[in-house]
Amino acid sequence: MEETKARTDIRTLSPDELGMILRDLKQPAFRTKQIVEWVFDKNVSSFDEMTNIPKALREQLAEQFSFNAPEEIARQVSSDGSRKYLLRFSDGVSVETVAMPSRSKLAVCISTQAGCAMGCVFCATGIAGLTRSLTAQEMVDQVLHVANDFNERVTSVVFMGQGEPFNNFDATVEALRKLNSEHGPNIGARHLTVSTCGIIPRIRAFADLPEQFTLAISLHSAIQQTRNQLMPGVKKYTLPRLYEALQLYTEKTGRRPTYEFAMIEGVNDTDPEMRALCDFCEGTLCHVNLIQLNNIPDSPFKPSPQKKVEELQRRLMTRGVETTIRVSRGSDIDAACGQLKQRLTIHR
Ligand code: SF4
Repeated sequence: MEETKARTDIRTLSPDELGMILRDLKQPAFRTKQIVEWVFDKNVSSFDEMTNIPKALREQLAEQFSFNAPEEIARQVSSDGSRKYLLRFSDGVSVETVAMPSRSKLAVCISTQAGCAMGCVFCATGIAGLTRSLTAQEMVDQVLHVANDFNERVTSVVFMGQGEPFNNFDATVEALRKLNSEHGPNIGARHLTVSTCGIIPRIRAFADLPEQFTLAISLHSAIQQTRNQLMPGVKKYTLPRLYEALQLYTEKTGRRPTYEFAMIEGVNDTDPEMRALCDFCEGTLCHVNLIQLNNIPDSPFKPSPQKKVEELQRRLMTRGVETTIRVSRGSDIDAACGQLKQRLTIHR
């Protein structure tokens, strides 16, 4: 019996690798250029769409290669225009991706893992646990899916969906580079943001990358005991160590990290919590994003009242800390930070 050979997803090759294969197939340089454009610039999902390529060559390529784009199995559309997708990969594992359009911009929040092992207690994904890490192509696929759905260019990507990107570091960096590539979505490095709970060795490695990718830290409390309770997965990376790593990061890169602070009623919106956050940030290069925690069904954690969020912003600004109050997108479809789960279920 003849063995069926598994076909490679053509999009996982680099343009140079694909070029070499086509040269081996004795294809002229212009043909290579055309195919590279179809695969990487026009992001087609089948050989049939390559209309200027001879049928025989398309068939020859289809014998060796496939397009393993994920399948959309569900979607929800928010009243604010955000769309949440449940995308399934070829092994049956699914993740959620959120698109957030605004005027001429299209932002996408992608997942880096199916589920998450960090166990943040306020997060629907953390409660469900980790299924597996995604490949770089699976991260890029989420962006391509949104671009095709809106028929628009994606202008920014946040790696803030399901999963801890720094627990899947190499694939995350590869995805950042693919998204940044001119043979790809060509999104500026500063518009590509990775959000981590604070995995210190990876923050150091991230600081060593030559590109200007943006770093966000899920802080959520500047008091060790509270942070340990909220984010048990990063207990060993204590606040003084995190502070030191971020000082080194800003010295090395000259870039401003963002601190995400989801305000939870009675937990991190008290006077000592506000004072600790101001002390942690004062005099450092950083930007604080304040957001009211989103409601997670059956969770004991509730969002802080708006006046507390405004009070913390005032206190931070008085201490010279740049602070923005973020408005949660897509909360009516459980697409907001902390709400992603496999219910056609974002974190942070
Ligand atoms: S907040 Fe992020 S890192 Fe924490 S459990 Fe949720 S998905 Fe994982």
